Amino acid sequence: MRQNFLKRVRRAVIKIGSNVISDDTGLLLPRIAVICDEVCRLRAQGLEVILVSSGAVSAGKGVLGISGRPQTIPLKQAAAAIGQPRLMRAYKEGFQAHGYLAAQILLTRDDLANRRRYLNARNTLVTLLDFGVTPIINENDTVVVEEIRFGDNDNLSAMVTSLLEVDLLVILSDVDGLYDRNPQEHPEARLIPLVERVTDQIQAMAGGEGSVLGTGGMASKVKAARRASLNGIGTLIINGRTPQTLGRAFAGEEIGTYFLPARDRMAAKKHWIAFTKKPRGKVFVDDGARRALLENGKSLLPSGITGVEGRFERGDSVRLCDPAGNEFAKGVIGYNLTELLRIMGKKTSEIEASLGYKYGDEVIHRDNLVISSASETDED
Ligand code: GLU
Repeated sequence: MRQNFLKRVRRAVIKIGSNVISDDTGLLLPRIAVICDEVCRLRAQGLEVILVSSGAVSAGKGVLGISGRPQTIPLKQAAAAIGQPRLMRAYKEGFQAHGYLAAQILLTRDDLANRRRYLNARNTLVTLLDFGVTPIINENDTVVVEEIRFGDNDNLSAMVTSLLEVDLLVILSDVDGLYDRNPQEHPEARLIPLVERVTDQIQAMAGGEGSVLGTGGMASKVKAARRASLNGIGTLIINGRTPQTLGRAFAGEEIGTYFLPARDRMAAKKHWIAFTKKPRGKVFVDDGARRALLENGKSLLPSGITGVEGRFERGDSVRLCDPAGNEFAKGVIGYNLTELLRIMGKKTSEIEASLGYKYGDEVIHRDNLVISSASETDED
């Protein structure tokens, strides 16, 4: 089954973890060269590849005399500033050896949360792919602050799968895949070859903590797989330290863990609202409006709004909360805070009189609304 599916993959995002291509001494150049060999071989077979690579911090921290994880954000950012060009040089040389070109793309979460910049990033990626160039994406570590961080590159790679049409997410890890318990503590742990749906039980198997070099750990990989799956994309977690791992996986060998795409694919826009856009405030609604949204598939009108919190502009994402303050949906709001304070609780026929203009009857249109549930959205 996996083989049939992999045969149809035309474009893949491949995420490479710090632990795969570096250790505490810095970059493992021979390993990067081997990965480039494999990626180029896949390219030559017609696969379009977008790489998401970590390793900037590990590539640079040695120069600053740091061993282990840098302890402060400025140290991490300085290490990334030193390491990112080294990382890119390694990829550039690895691709050049096969006559291919690589390009660097550095992103923050803000770049994808703003729809214009998101579309721009997409156009750039598509143009690079059209020219046969392999984009290599990393978080823009040197400028990033907490509010606009992806957090880890597993998350970033999942978000990239919704940036442009992709058939598969491959995560190269330093372990063979997802085990039913932590294999470092339990020698009898079993590798799970196929995950049909990321349930809480599956998420629990992935445990918590990350490693010294990478930030993610298995937990964030499984979370990323879940995100990709909700976007209709399968994820393969395989061991990037094993030779020929990519070639073997694409040839259909049953290695690693394969996460099936969710059957009911969320529309790309809704996925973006649920996972990429950061909510800027809260809108409280009465029971009637809550029911209309949850049970009848309606849009949010001003009459059902009882309160607002936070500072948001038209086009920002907000959390929708019931009278008890429990969030039940996220949506992109059509009016800003000042406007909303003037029209909340009123009938749609009163919008124009209250503001002197109106954008539309709906404060949040149904198409811009995503209902939260354990299986649909995350806590962030
Ligand atoms: N952007 C970081 C780096 O290049 C890695 C983040 C992560 O480990 O997920 O070092």
